[in-house]
Amino acid sequence: MNKDCLFCRIGAKQIPSKIVYEDPELFAFEDISPQAPTHILICPRKHFESLTDASAEDQVVLGKLQLVAAQLARERKLLQGYRTVLNNGEGAGQSVFHLHLHLLGGRPFRWPPG
Ligand code: AMP
Ligand code: ZN
Repeated sequence: MNKDCLFCRIGAKQIPSKIVYEDPELFAFEDISPQAPTHILICPRKHFESLTDASAEDQVVLGKLQLVAAQLARERKLLQGYRTVLNNGEGAGQSVFHLHLHLLGGRPFRWPPG
């Protein structure tokens, strides 16, 4: 827990959010500025800034982020497809420096992403 981190504080329920999933390792909540009909952020409770700061000991929790995304996509019946995105660093559009996986669905997506 980093007391200066927005997402650590959301996970600790010190800042309100619409939490849609939680367990001892992860929590997931609705993005405040959704870019698709479904836009959920899935975070490890452990604070690390980005994938660059993760190490081998984090491999289980990193895999679990994707599996929780797939579970939420099934629950929300995102049958036309969905996208998981992990922005790393300012140059890739990261704006909150607590690692998080975006789950986006409910509309068509183009490739390559912008
Ligand atoms: P990124 O740009 O990949 O770092 O994603 C950060 C995401 O956090 C953006 O999609 C924001 O809309 C979202 N966000 C920022 N503040 C909040 C908040 N208080 N509650 C929910 N989502 C937030
Ligand atoms: Zn944090």
